[in-house]
Amino acid sequence: MTFPVVGMVGGGQLARMTHEAGIPLGIRFRILSDTPQDSAAQVVNDVTVGDYRDLDTLLAFARGCDVLTFDHEHVPTAHLRALEAEGITVRPGPDALVHAQDKAVMRARLAEIGAPAPRHRVVADARDVAAFAAEVAGAAEDGGSAGAAEDGGDALAAPVVLKTARGGYDGKGVWVVRTVAEAAGVLDAVAASGVPVLAEEKVPFVRELAANVVRSPHGQAVAYPVVESVQVDGVCDTVVAPAPDLSEELSGEAQQLALTVARELGVVGHLAVELFEVRAADGTPGILVNELAMRPHNSGHWTMDGAVTSQFANHLRAVLDLPLGDPRPRAPWTVMANVLGGDFPDMYRAYLHCMARDPGLKIHMYGKDVKPGRKVGHVNTYGDDLDVVRERARHAADYLRGTIDE
Ligand code: ADP
Repeated sequence: MTFPVVGMVGGGQLARMTHEAGIPLGIRFRILSDTPQDSAAQVVNDVTVGDYRDLDTLLAFARGCDVLTFDHEHVPTAHLRALEAEGITVRPGPDALVHAQDKAVMRARLAEIGAPAPRHRVVADARDVAAFAAEVAGAAEDGGSAGAAEDGGDALAAPVVLKTARGGYDGKGVWVVRTVAEAAGVLDAVAASGVPVLAEEKVPFVRELAANVVRSPHGQAVAYPVVESVQVDGVCDTVVAPAPDLSEELSGEAQQLALTVARELGVVGHLAVELFEVRAADGTPGILVNELAMRPHNSGHWTMDGAVTSQFANHLRAVLDLPLGDPRPRAPWTVMANVLGGDFPDMYRAYLHCMARDPGLKIHMYGKDVKPGRKVGHVNTYGDDLDVVRERARHAADYLRGTIDE
């Protein structure tokens, strides 16, 4: 029996877990990995080591695959178009993927389809940022909430979030600025890279949510329950599925929004719509889109154990244009906690302890070198009582990380 070959660009943990999901289906899976030590390269048997930024390398890799997909969003759009021109099937395609690669393009397109978003503008200099901040402050005053900051002539009228439109700038792409001087500093630092900078109002969100959907070329689509994602120091720490205390109305709205974005942008595969939950002046909850990811996503790792079909299995089905699997949860609550690299204990002893304490615990380690703050694995727990499920995940993640020892 022959089966199409799925090629994935990238050898990170997303490729590793996508590979894992394809094994029961006998999917032939290849990766283009930066190094032989990458997380997926350790376990996939068909690995090309090479640089995806080099078009010849990418083309040679892709020619052996029936469909090409990604574990990251860094492949240049021009390269993707070149692949398509060669007749290679790229899913998601470059016209969709650009919205996950370029925040300015994403903001412009989402405005066209009426998706709720923070106020934003592409800015060229600090004067633009000051003018934008004044508008944001004016709108806030009209709405009857916080006014302008009045702590000195240099202060912006409202705090502003500056973001490089395209990632990869020194690994740092998001800054909160409160003064004209800070804004000028960020813009100067970014100028050399030539990447446009997007200014956004600093949203006083109550929490971050993610609406995850999967769409196939046939146009079939499924929506996972909307989750709450808790960030610590800018890194995803915990995901709770479904998001606690989210009204059915708002969760339906978020799922519908994600399905609309997937359809309008022509996404194939997994789409994560990262959201801010906000409160209007009268206390009514609402959502704003923060950003999009078009690949399996950290906010969907809970689905490996907590949903009937995982995001990885559904991503594979989508890129192969197979019927999608059931996205429904298996238990009332699932909690995912990332294991961040720290002062690692002996892993075997850590497993002994965690497995003995919690036979229901699901551990997923990525085989990565331990570096402080790096995501090296995650755990999933599920059950009926959210407090218990949350404590089990927290304990295991902290123990595996070495921050607690009992
Ligand atoms: P990245 O591409 O690095 O994930 P994001 O655009 O998701 O960047 O921003 C990272 C984090 O910064 C978000 O998860 C959120 O906590 C915060 N953030 C981003 N944009 C805003 C905003 N407009 N208002 C308030 N906080 C923001």
